[in-house]
Amino acid sequence: MTIRALVWGENIHERENAEVAKLYPDGMHSTIAAALREGGEIEAETATLQEPEHGLTEARLERTDVLLWWGHRAHGDVDDAIVERVQARVWEGMGLIVLHSGHFSKIFKRLMGTPCSLRWREAGERERLWVINPSHPIAAGLGEHIEIPMTEMYGEPFTVPEPAETVFVSWYEGGEVFRSGLTFQRGAGRIFYFSPGHETYPIYHQGDVQIVLRNAVRWAHNPAPRWRDIGEAPNVPTKEAPEALEERGPKLHAEGEAGFR
Ligand code: ZN
Repeated sequence: MTIRALVWGENIHERENAEVAKLYPDGMHSTIAAALREGGEIEAETATLQEPEHGLTEARLERTDVLLWWGHRAHGDVDDAIVERVQARVWEGMGLIVLHSGHFSKIFKRLMGTPCSLRWREAGERERLWVINPSHPIAAGLGEHIEIPMTEMYGEPFTVPEPAETVFVSWYEGGEVFRSGLTFQRGAGRIFYFSPGHETYPIYHQGDVQIVLRNAVRWAHNPAPRWRDIGEAPNVPTKEAPEALEERGPKLHAEGEAGFR
């Protein structure tokens, strides 16, 4: 089965910073999409902040199985109506992969319901990302760790809710640690947060990082989401009970009042 992925990029640093442009001449989103297409199992398109509706129209999201999100400087410029639209699609079963500084995006903070803050340092230090859950599908094909020669340090505490699974934990040359690969579920939507990906280092060109991205898309793809039916069902009282039931006690709600049926 072909999985339809959409890579969303903020697409600002690539156009305004010479270092980033050198690493990602067509934008980070294009590099990530090309990596996803390797192997032929994933169809990957791109969308950017600058497009109408940020490239995330109803129709586009409708045909997206897994959305990847990279943003940094312009989280505040993302339209709240689009954020709500993406959230609804996640509830319905669209997978979401949030990358690096996307930890502070409106969509991730909204889905987590917590500040999603962390501590960071841009010192070009080494990161050793440990695979602490080697049997997890997102870790398939990896060794015991991934070495990233130059990285931006992301350190704990990372103020997200307790994740469903922790796949990776990173150690940094400066001494901090960070939960660098976490899974969550919201509605029928599977969510994966992956911290590597600072824009001034060639992290998305690394083969093992690209393996993680492809694995994550496969994992986040929910082929049989059921939440749409549940999510669209009206929130109403029910009079029927599966077992014979004798009613007792005072009642707050009366038949005939608004919403009662
Ligand atoms: Zn960064």
